Amino acid sequence: MTLLIKEILKLQPKNQLVTVKGWVKNFRANKFVSLNDGSTVQNIQCVIDFESFDEFIIKKITSGTSISIKGKLVNSLGSGQDVEILVTNIKIYGESNADKYPIQPKKHSFEFLRENAHLRVRTSTFGAIMRIRSKLSYAIHKFFQEENFQYVNTPIITSNDAEGAGEMFRVTTLDPKFPPLEQNNVDFKKDFFSKKTHLTVSGQLEAESYALGLGKVYTFGPTFRAENSNTTRHLSEFWMIEPEMAFFDLEDNINLAEKFIKYILNFIIEECVDDLNFLEQRLFNEEKNKPKNERNEMKLIEKLKFVVDNKFERVSYSKAFEILKNCAKNKKKKFEFLVNDWGMDFQSEHERYLVEKHFNKPVVIFDYPSQSKAFYMRLNDDETTVAAMDVLFPGIGEIIGGSQREERLKILENRMNQFGVSKKDLWWYKELRSFGTVPHSGFGLGFERIVLFATGMSNIRDVIPFPRTPNNALF
Ligand code: ATP
Ligand code: MN
Repeated sequence: MTLLIKEILKLQPKNQLVTVKGWVKNFRANKFVSLNDGSTVQNIQCVIDFESFDEFIIKKITSGTSISIKGKLVNSLGSGQDVEILVTNIKIYGESNADKYPIQPKKHSFEFLRENAHLRVRTSTFGAIMRIRSKLSYAIHKFFQEENFQYVNTPIITSNDAEGAGEMFRVTTLDPKFPPLEQNNVDFKKDFFSKKTHLTVSGQLEAESYALGLGKVYTFGPTFRAENSNTTRHLSEFWMIEPEMAFFDLEDNINLAEKFIKYILNFIIEECVDDLNFLEQRLFNEEKNKPKNERNEMKLIEKLKFVVDNKFERVSYSKAFEILKNCAKNKKKKFEFLVNDWGMDFQSEHERYLVEKHFNKPVVIFDYPSQSKAFYMRLNDDETTVAAMDVLFPGIGEIIGGSQREERLKILENRMNQFGVSKKDLWWYKELRSFGTVPHSGFGLGFERIVLFATGMSNIRDVIPFPRTPNNALF
């Protein structure tokens, strides 16, 4: 019977016959095959008595070869593994030219592996990252289902161009060489959908419509932003989770966000022990090459537990602004961007100071100046701030952005006017406020940002299988 390596490693070895199928990591001394099948970060050692096999077969076993091995499971005498397989049968599926195979049994740089993204999942590091990614995705559905949320799928092609969340990719079937014109402008009435359409930057507005009927909903789908930000935290195509809840105010919203993050991190702390241990070791070795003052003080699992075990710090924008201003005044920290006027947007350096230096834990900032946030966020009684919240994480910055939504038609219309948002296009969004409106709230979590944090990796391009970024849509 074919078993996964993950399953075999749990068996009591007593000479039973097992079959494994996978890819050769390494073949040493014409005798020891180190085999991996993607089910676990651990390889299984298969011991070949080369005299009992055809030389042609033995020659074909190199790094990258795909192979089926049958043999007896025994206790290993060697160090480094508890069990091993004494091989009785070998079947080669696909050979692999050892000189040309990019994934050699040694450590490769992440840059090199990005150029070989079609094969990088065969490395222990990317295997571990992608298994953790998969488990996190499972945990997200599990959490919301247990909390009685309904999963909704919002459109990927949209004609809402008023959300202001980011630059959008246009979707069109018009011929760029000969577009239909009307008075010298492209006539989008002749386009596929008879209007301008784009890839979605957020499913929030549609999710709101569903929350006002199903009660508690969440989306989990691809999101596209054509922003030209070449950072280690931005992708042009990423996955976003957007819960939206009827009858939730901002505080309920923040409570849910904290509970949610802790749940999914806790889930992988329990379910991904081997992968986390492997990554912790791999990244720790990397840290040792850095200058002392740039090293991460906390190891990966310790860092995850720290987030799970501590209450997130909650601070209003105004309070955070005071902290930053005082800190600049007392010359505790020199910021590139001045902290001068209340209402300014915090830059990444400010957020990082608050999270990594001042509070030293995840921070939730709430009640932002109304002009700096989107039109749909609920105006507070002070009429200068909105019921918005951002969750900021060490090393990453913003991981969640959310708010209580404006449910009062008159005020929403005022805000749409102020922001120049088309009331005509969003007639349906307004109508939600005319027929049975309720207070409601929601937030967006960038999936890759939480995978980044959970795996301890430092570049978002390394936590999605095939990253899309400015100037790069390879594979
Ligand atoms: P940032 O300021 O980091 O660009 P944002 O304010 O544009 O974020 P939102 O529009 O609030 O973010 O989106 C919600 C969440 O989606 C963010 O908190 C973040 O986790 C994630 N996110 C936003 N843009 C990207 C991106 N380009 N790549 C990956 N994740 C993103
Ligand atoms: Mn952005």
